[in-house]
Amino acid sequence: MINLDPLLTAVRLGVQLAARVQNLHLSGLEKDEQEPVTWADYGVQAILGRAIAAAYPDDAVLGEESGEQFAQLVSAEARAQLATLVGQALSETVDEAALIGWINHGRGRDAERIWVIDPIDGTKGFISGRRYAIGVGVLDGGLPVAGIIAAPNYRGDGRGLVFYGQGSAAYLSPLEGSKVYRIAVSQPKRLANLRVVESIEASHSDHDAVLKVLAAAKLANPKLERIDSMQKYGMVACGDADLYLRLPKTANPQHRVWDHLPGAAIVQAAGGVVTDLDGRLHNFANGQVLEGHLGIVASSGGDLHERVLEALQNAWTPPS
Ligand code: AMP
Ligand code: MG
Repeated sequence: MINLDPLLTAVRLGVQLAARVQNLHLSGLEKDEQEPVTWADYGVQAILGRAIAAAYPDDAVLGEESGEQFAQLVSAEARAQLATLVGQALSETVDEAALIGWINHGRGRDAERIWVIDPIDGTKGFISGRRYAIGVGVLDGGLPVAGIIAAPNYRGDGRGLVFYGQGSAAYLSPLEGSKVYRIAVSQPKRLANLRVVESIEASHSDHDAVLKVLAAAKLANPKLERIDSMQKYGMVACGDADLYLRLPKTANPQHRVWDHLPGAAIVQAAGGVVTDLDGRLHNFANGQVLEGHLGIVASSGGDLHERVLEALQNAWTPPS
């Protein structure tokens, strides 16, 4: 078992930083729409990289952002301001060199264990005040073995949850407070009134195709909710949803490891099943992209998963 505590602490600090950046943006200090995302992305990755460097110095890191891009794309003034914000979140003095070092920590290293980081997932949700997530996953010997997902606006009311899991145990913990609850996927007795989630972004997942597949699977009266970010995996893991479907709009959708590894590890630890559209486990150990995997079926498992895979075979044609 991996001690996830250092990263759970870091993820909570990351949420504080992201909220701070969001507030600065909302109060009009940041006028450029992309700016708050950029700040939060680099700042959160730095906080997570710092925690990995301290607790697991020899492990590798596969993060969405790089220190070189940070230095190139972000103005010197903004870099200095971000260093101040991160320093406030960590209650220590932080300079730009430290930020860049943490953002790059473990990058490109060859190691048995790799920490996979998505500092801000659901960018559009983050900007719009909808849902977003911070994701951390662990790949060990090529297999997804642990995951953490913070969902700071889980129900849309500004309160958040952290999901995490490894082996065959998964948990959630409210972002405020220190309580921890063991979670498990739902156990639908009938395949009726199931709760289904998919991306809110029509360009990320084929909404029409999802409706067709649900009809073909003969799920009576499914309740479909469209939600930003990998919090959808958390919803399946704790039984707030029974099924998450992601169907590609293009022939080569290029799903990223950091978008799906944390969720796959947590759902599996909670007793659920995550496969691609052919029912295969995803290969997370082949670089940044989930090559050869067109989409995602994450569910509580059993009959439900089988039915959805069958419906995909019968009623869905991959985009050409
Ligand atoms: P979601 O809110 O579930 O759509 O997840 C957000 C993630 O979707 C982002 O982190 C992106 O990496 C990913 N994404 C961006 N563009 C696409 C696309 N065209 N197809 C599938 N996923 C995408
Ligand atoms: Mg993402």
